[in-house]
Amino acid sequence: MTEKIYEYKDEKNWFIGTWAGFNYFTCFGDDAVFEAVQKDFHHLLDQLQVSGLQIHVASYDSSFYLLSFLVDMITDKTGRSIKLRQQADALLIIEEEKLVSVHLPESGVKLTDFFGRQVDTLADLGDTILIATKNEGKTKEFRQFFAKLGYQVENLNNYPDISDVEETGVTFEENARLKAETIANLTGKMVLADDSGLKVDVLGGLPGVWSARFSGLEATDETNNAKLLHELAMVFEQKNRSAQFHCTLVVAAPHSDSLVVEADWEGYIGMELRGEHGFGYDPLFLVGETGRTSAEMTLEEKNKISHRAKALEKLMEAFPSWQKKQVKPF
Ligand code: IMP
Repeated sequence: MTEKIYEYKDEKNWFIGTWAGFNYFTCFGDDAVFEAVQKDFHHLLDQLQVSGLQIHVASYDSSFYLLSFLVDMITDKTGRSIKLRQQADALLIIEEEKLVSVHLPESGVKLTDFFGRQVDTLADLGDTILIATKNEGKTKEFRQFFAKLGYQVENLNNYPDISDVEETGVTFEENARLKAETIANLTGKMVLADDSGLKVDVLGGLPGVWSARFSGLEATDETNNAKLLHELAMVFEQKNRSAQFHCTLVVAAPHSDSLVVEADWEGYIGMELRGEHGFGYDPLFLVGETGRTSAEMTLEEKNKISHRAKALEKLMEAFPSWQKKQVKPF
Protein backbone atom coordinates (compact mmCIF):
# COMPACT_ATOMS: atom_id res chain seq x y z
CA MET A 1 0.00 0.00 0.00
CA THR A 2 1.37 3.45 -0.92
CA GLU A 3 1.90 5.75 2.09
CA LYS A 4 -0.05 8.99 2.23
CA ILE A 5 1.78 12.02 0.79
CA TYR A 6 1.60 15.27 2.77
CA GLU A 7 2.25 18.68 1.25
CA TYR A 8 2.41 22.30 2.40
CA LYS A 9 2.95 25.10 -0.07
CA ASP A 10 2.81 28.89 0.07
CA GLU A 11 4.78 31.62 -1.71
CA LYS A 12 7.96 30.96 0.26
CA ASN A 13 7.68 27.47 1.79
CA TRP A 14 7.12 24.14 0.08
CA PHE A 15 7.36 20.88 2.00
CA ILE A 16 6.49 17.33 0.95
CA GLY A 17 6.46 14.43 3.39
CA THR A 18 5.65 10.80 3.90
CA TRP A 19 6.21 7.97 6.38
CA ALA A 20 8.80 5.24 5.72
CA GLY A 21 11.36 3.17 7.68
CA PHE A 22 13.54 5.95 9.19
CA ASN A 23 13.79 9.72 9.67
CA TYR A 24 15.21 11.43 6.62
CA PHE A 25 15.13 14.82 4.98
CA THR A 26 16.38 16.26 1.73
CA CYS A 27 16.56 19.88 0.91
CA PHE A 28 17.05 22.31 -1.96
CA GLY A 29 18.88 25.53 -1.14
CA ASP A 30 22.18 26.64 0.34
CA ASP A 31 24.04 25.42 3.46
CA ALA A 32 22.27 27.87 5.76
CA VAL A 33 18.87 26.50 4.75
CA PHE A 34 20.11 22.93 5.15
CA GLU A 35 21.44 23.64 8.65
CA ALA A 36 18.28 25.43 9.78
CA VAL A 37 16.06 22.60 8.59
CA GLN A 38 18.36 19.92 10.00
CA LYS A 39 18.40 21.58 13.43
CA ASP A 40 14.61 21.87 13.72
CA PHE A 41 13.93 18.48 12.15
CA HIS A 42 16.22 16.39 14.37
CA HIS A 43 15.59 18.35 17.55
CA LEU A 44 11.84 17.89 17.24
CA LEU A 45 11.92 14.22 16.29
CA ASP A 46 14.43 13.36 19.03
CA GLN A 47 12.35 15.13 21.66
CA LEU A 48 9.13 13.45 20.54
CA GLN A 49 10.87 10.11 19.89
CA VAL A 50 9.36 9.81 16.45
CA SER A 51 10.86 7.72 13.66
CA GLY A 52 9.99 7.10 10.04
CA LEU A 53 9.26 10.69 9.07
CA GLN A 54 10.66 11.65 5.68
CA ILE A 55 10.43 15.10 4.17
CA HIS A 56 11.67 16.98 1.20
CA VAL A 57 12.06 20.77 1.54
CA ALA A 58 11.74 22.33 -1.89
CA SER A 59 11.63 25.86 -0.58
CA TYR A 60 12.16 27.17 2.97
CA ASP A 61 11.56 30.49 4.65
CA SER A 62 10.19 29.91 8.14
CA SER A 63 10.71 27.55 11.08
CA PHE A 64 7.12 28.14 12.10
CA TYR A 65 5.67 26.66 8.88
CA LEU A 66 8.16 23.78 8.86
CA LEU A 67 7.46 22.79 12.48
CA SER A 68 3.77 23.21 11.95
CA PHE A 69 3.96 20.86 8.94
CA LEU A 70 5.92 18.28 10.98
CA VAL A 71 3.54 18.50 13.93
CA ASP A 72 0.54 18.04 11.62
CA MET A 73 2.12 14.95 10.05
CA ILE A 74 2.89 13.45 13.48
CA THR A 75 -0.54 14.11 14.97
CA ASP A 76 -2.22 12.79 11.82
CA LYS A 77 -0.21 9.56 11.91
CA THR A 78 -0.08 8.89 15.67
CA GLY A 79 -3.14 10.64 17.11
CA ARG A 80 -0.93 12.27 19.76
CA SER A 81 -2.08 15.62 21.12
CA ILE A 82 0.82 17.88 20.10
CA LYS A 83 0.50 21.61 19.53
CA LEU A 84 2.78 24.34 18.24
CA ARG A 85 2.63 27.69 19.98
CA GLN A 86 4.53 30.90 19.32
CA GLN A 87 5.69 32.93 22.35
CA ALA A 88 7.55 36.08 21.26
CA ASP A 89 9.96 34.64 18.64
CA ALA A 90 10.29 31.26 20.37
CA LEU A 91 8.39 28.26 19.06
CA LEU A 92 7.12 25.90 21.73
CA ILE A 93 5.97 22.36 21.16
CA ILE A 94 3.47 21.27 23.80
CA GLU A 95 2.19 17.74 24.28
CA GLU A 96 -0.80 17.37 26.62
CA GLU A 97 0.24 19.81 29.38
CA LYS A 98 3.98 19.36 28.94
CA LEU A 99 6.46 21.59 27.15
CA VAL A 100 8.52 19.12 25.12
CA SER A 101 10.62 21.22 22.77
CA VAL A 102 11.67 24.86 22.32
CA HIS A 103 12.98 26.30 19.03
CA LEU A 104 14.75 29.64 19.17
CA PRO A 105 15.97 32.01 16.45
CA GLU A 106 19.77 32.35 16.27
CA SER A 107 19.63 35.78 17.91
CA GLY A 108 17.74 34.32 20.91
CA VAL A 109 14.65 35.88 22.50
CA LYS A 110 14.65 38.65 25.09
CA LEU A 111 13.46 37.35 28.48
CA THR A 112 11.18 40.36 28.87
CA ASP A 113 9.47 39.54 25.56
CA PHE A 114 9.23 35.85 26.37
CA PHE A 115 7.74 36.25 29.86
CA GLY A 116 5.76 39.38 29.01
CA ARG A 117 7.19 41.23 32.03
CA GLN A 118 10.45 42.68 33.27
CA VAL A 119 12.84 39.90 34.32
CA ASP A 120 15.94 41.22 36.06
CA THR A 121 17.64 38.21 37.57
CA LEU A 122 17.49 34.47 37.27
CA ALA A 123 15.72 34.32 40.64
CA ASP A 124 12.90 36.36 39.03
CA LEU A 125 12.15 33.40 36.81
CA GLY A 126 11.22 31.26 39.79
CA ASP A 127 7.71 31.04 41.16
CA THR A 128 6.47 33.09 44.05
CA ILE A 129 5.17 31.82 47.36
CA LEU A 130 3.05 34.04 49.57
CA ILE A 131 3.45 33.48 53.33
CA ALA A 132 0.12 34.14 55.04
CA THR A 133 1.52 36.36 57.77
CA LYS A 134 2.40 40.01 58.36
CA ASN A 135 5.21 38.95 60.71
CA GLU A 136 8.57 39.73 59.06
CA GLY A 137 10.43 37.42 61.49
CA LYS A 138 8.38 34.39 60.42
CA THR A 139 8.72 35.44 56.78
CA LYS A 140 12.50 35.55 57.14
CA GLU A 141 12.61 31.94 58.41
CA PHE A 142 10.52 30.72 55.48
CA ARG A 143 12.43 32.87 52.98
CA GLN A 144 15.70 31.10 53.89
CA PHE A 145 14.12 27.78 52.97
CA PHE A 146 12.27 28.75 49.79
CA ALA A 147 15.08 30.89 48.34
CA LYS A 148 17.16 27.69 48.06
CA LEU A 149 14.45 26.29 45.80
CA GLY A 150 14.44 29.40 43.59
CA TYR A 151 11.23 30.91 44.99
CA GLN A 152 10.49 34.56 45.54
CA VAL A 153 8.92 34.99 48.97
CA GLU A 154 6.35 37.65 49.82
CA ASN A 155 3.98 38.12 52.75
CA LEU A 156 0.65 39.79 53.48
CA ASN A 157 2.33 43.20 53.85
CA ASN A 158 2.49 43.09 50.04
CA TYR A 159 -1.32 42.64 49.97
CA PRO A 160 -2.78 45.33 52.25
CA ASP A 161 -6.27 44.84 50.81
CA ILE A 162 -6.59 41.26 52.04
CA SER A 163 -8.36 41.28 55.39
CA ASP A 164 -7.49 38.82 58.18
CA VAL A 165 -8.93 35.34 57.72
CA GLU A 166 -10.81 34.40 60.91
CA GLU A 167 -9.40 31.29 62.59
CA THR A 168 -12.73 29.55 63.19
CA GLY A 169 -11.44 25.95 63.02
CA VAL A 170 -11.17 23.64 66.01
CA THR A 171 -7.91 22.00 64.90
CA PHE A 172 -4.56 23.46 63.89
CA GLU A 173 -4.96 21.90 60.44
CA GLU A 174 -8.41 23.45 59.90
CA ASN A 175 -7.10 26.90 60.78
CA ALA A 176 -3.95 26.65 58.67
CA ARG A 177 -5.96 25.27 55.73
CA LEU A 178 -8.54 28.03 56.08
CA LYS A 179 -5.85 30.71 55.83
CA ALA A 180 -3.79 29.08 53.07
CA GLU A 181 -6.69 28.00 50.85
CA THR A 182 -8.73 31.21 51.23
CA ILE A 183 -5.75 33.39 50.32
CA ALA A 184 -4.63 31.07 47.49
CA ASN A 185 -8.09 31.36 45.95
CA LEU A 186 -8.19 35.15 46.43
CA THR A 187 -4.75 35.79 44.92
CA GLY A 188 -4.25 32.83 42.55
CA LYS A 189 -0.85 32.28 44.22
CA MET A 190 0.81 29.44 46.04
CA VAL A 191 0.35 30.23 49.74
CA LEU A 192 1.91 28.87 52.91
CA ALA A 193 0.08 29.29 56.22
CA ASP A 194 0.98 28.05 59.68
CA ASP A 195 -0.95 27.55 62.86
CA SER A 196 0.75 26.83 66.12
CA GLY A 197 0.09 26.69 69.81
CA LEU A 198 0.72 24.96 73.12
CA LYS A 199 -0.89 21.65 74.12
CA VAL A 200 -0.83 20.69 77.79
CA ASP A 201 -1.58 17.01 78.41
CA VAL A 202 -3.24 17.34 81.81
CA LEU A 203 -5.56 20.00 80.34
CA GLY A 204 -6.66 17.61 77.56
CA GLY A 205 -4.61 19.50 74.93
CA LEU A 206 -5.66 23.04 75.96
CA PRO A 207 -4.94 25.86 75.26
CA GLY A 208 -4.38 24.30 71.77
CA VAL A 209 -5.91 26.32 68.94
CA TRP A 210 -7.00 28.87 71.52
CA SER A 211 -3.41 29.56 72.67
CA ALA A 212 -3.40 33.20 71.59
CA ARG A 213 -6.77 33.88 73.26
CA PHE A 214 -6.51 31.52 76.26
CA SER A 215 -7.29 34.22 78.83
CA GLY A 216 -9.99 35.95 76.77
CA LEU A 217 -10.44 38.26 73.79
CA GLU A 218 -8.14 40.92 75.28
CA ALA A 219 -5.45 38.34 76.12
CA THR A 220 -1.76 39.25 76.28
CA ASP A 221 1.24 36.93 76.74
CA GLU A 222 1.28 37.89 80.43
CA THR A 223 -2.40 37.12 81.08
CA ASN A 224 -2.15 33.84 79.12
CA ASN A 225 0.86 32.71 81.15
CA ALA A 226 -0.85 33.72 84.40
CA LYS A 227 -3.93 31.68 83.45
CA LEU A 228 -1.80 28.66 82.55
CA LEU A 229 0.03 28.78 85.91
CA HIS A 230 -3.34 29.09 87.65
CA GLU A 231 -4.79 26.05 85.81
CA LEU A 232 -1.78 23.94 86.82
CA ALA A 233 -1.52 25.24 90.39
CA MET A 234 -2.47 21.86 91.87
CA VAL A 235 -0.22 19.80 89.57
CA PHE A 236 3.06 19.52 91.45
CA GLU A 237 5.11 16.83 89.71
CA GLN A 238 6.96 17.82 86.56
CA LYS A 239 6.06 14.57 84.80
CA ASN A 240 2.38 15.52 85.08
CA ARG A 241 3.02 18.95 83.55
CA SER A 242 4.08 17.54 80.16
CA ALA A 243 3.26 19.68 77.11
CA GLN A 244 4.08 20.21 73.45
CA PHE A 245 4.40 23.21 71.24
CA HIS A 246 2.68 22.22 68.01
CA CYS A 247 3.02 23.57 64.48
CA THR A 248 1.01 22.72 61.37
CA LEU A 249 2.08 24.06 57.97
CA VAL A 250 -0.20 24.05 54.94
CA VAL A 251 0.85 24.92 51.39
CA ALA A 252 -2.11 25.61 49.08
CA ALA A 253 -2.39 26.50 45.41
CA PRO A 254 -5.53 27.09 43.32
CA HIS A 255 -7.00 23.85 41.88
CA SER A 256 -4.62 21.65 43.91
CA ASP A 257 -4.78 19.41 46.95
CA SER A 258 -2.98 21.16 49.79
CA LEU A 259 0.21 19.86 51.34
CA VAL A 260 -0.01 19.45 55.14
CA VAL A 261 2.86 18.76 57.55
CA GLU A 262 2.96 19.01 61.33
CA ALA A 263 5.37 18.60 64.22
CA ASP A 264 5.51 18.70 68.02
CA TRP A 265 8.22 19.98 70.34
CA GLU A 266 8.18 18.09 73.66
CA GLY A 267 8.59 19.73 77.05
CA TYR A 268 7.02 20.58 80.43
CA ILE A 269 5.31 23.60 81.93
CA GLY A 270 7.54 25.23 84.54
CA MET A 271 6.39 26.46 87.98
CA GLU A 272 7.48 30.03 87.26
CA LEU A 273 8.34 32.35 84.37
CA ARG A 274 12.02 32.28 83.34
CA GLY A 275 14.03 33.86 80.53
CA GLU A 276 13.93 37.02 78.47
CA HIS A 277 13.84 35.76 74.88
CA GLY A 278 11.02 34.58 72.65
CA PHE A 279 7.34 35.36 73.05
CA GLY A 280 4.04 33.78 74.12
CA TYR A 281 4.48 30.80 76.45
CA ASP A 282 8.26 30.60 76.02
CA PRO A 283 9.06 31.65 79.65
CA LEU A 284 7.00 28.68 80.92
CA PHE A 285 8.06 26.01 78.41
CA LEU A 286 10.82 23.76 79.80
CA VAL A 287 12.52 22.23 76.78
CA GLY A 288 12.64 18.42 77.02
CA GLU A 289 14.90 17.35 79.88
CA THR A 290 17.24 20.39 79.58
CA GLY A 291 15.76 22.26 82.56
CA ARG A 292 15.87 25.47 80.48
CA THR A 293 12.84 27.32 79.20
CA SER A 294 12.63 28.24 75.55
CA ALA A 295 12.84 31.89 76.67
CA GLU A 296 16.29 31.09 78.08
CA MET A 297 17.48 30.03 74.63
CA THR A 298 18.74 32.42 71.99
CA LEU A 299 16.57 32.78 68.92
CA GLU A 300 19.18 30.88 66.88
CA GLU A 301 19.16 27.98 69.35
CA LYS A 302 15.37 27.86 69.44
CA ASN A 303 15.01 28.11 65.67
CA LYS A 304 17.10 24.96 65.22
CA ILE A 305 14.92 22.69 67.37
CA SER A 306 11.49 24.30 67.74
CA HIS A 307 8.14 22.95 66.53
CA ARG A 308 8.37 25.33 63.52
CA ALA A 309 11.89 24.10 62.70
CA LYS A 310 10.75 20.47 62.86
CA ALA A 311 7.69 21.18 60.70
CA LEU A 312 9.86 23.07 58.22
CA GLU A 313 12.21 20.07 58.03
CA LYS A 314 9.23 17.88 57.13
CA LEU A 315 8.14 20.44 54.57
CA MET A 316 11.60 20.32 52.99
CA GLU A 317 11.20 16.58 52.51
CA ALA A 318 7.65 16.66 51.17
CA PHE A 319 7.57 19.92 49.18
CA PRO A 320 9.60 18.98 46.06
CA SER A 321 7.44 15.98 45.13
CA TRP A 322 4.19 17.86 45.94
CA GLN A 323 5.32 20.78 43.82
CA LYS A 324 6.13 18.50 40.85
CA LYS A 325 2.54 17.28 40.87
CA GLN A 326 1.14 20.80 40.44
CA VAL A 327 -0.13 21.54 36.95
CA LYS A 328 1.01 24.98 35.84
CA PRO A 329 -0.88 26.56 32.95
CA PHE A 330 1.70 28.18 30.71
P1 IMP B 1 0.37 31.58 65.85
O1 IMP B 1 0.09 30.26 65.22
O2 IMP B 1 1.69 32.13 65.47
O3 IMP B 1 -0.77 32.52 65.72
O4 IMP B 1 0.51 31.28 67.42
C1 IMP B 1 -0.59 31.10 68.29
C2 IMP B 1 -0.17 31.25 69.73
O5 IMP B 1 0.56 30.07 70.11
C3 IMP B 1 0.78 32.40 70.01
O6 IMP B 1 0.07 33.58 70.23
C4 IMP B 1 1.52 31.91 71.24
O7 IMP B 1 0.74 32.16 72.37
C5 IMP B 1 1.58 30.41 71.02
N1 IMP B 1 2.86 30.02 70.40
C6 IMP B 1 3.06 29.50 69.17
N2 IMP B 1 4.36 29.28 68.94
C7 IMP B 1 5.01 29.68 70.05
C8 IMP B 1 6.39 29.71 70.41
O8 IMP B 1 7.30 29.36 69.65
N3 IMP B 1 6.66 30.19 71.65
C9 IMP B 1 5.71 30.62 72.51
N4 IMP B 1 4.43 30.62 72.23
C10 IMP B 1 4.06 30.13 70.99
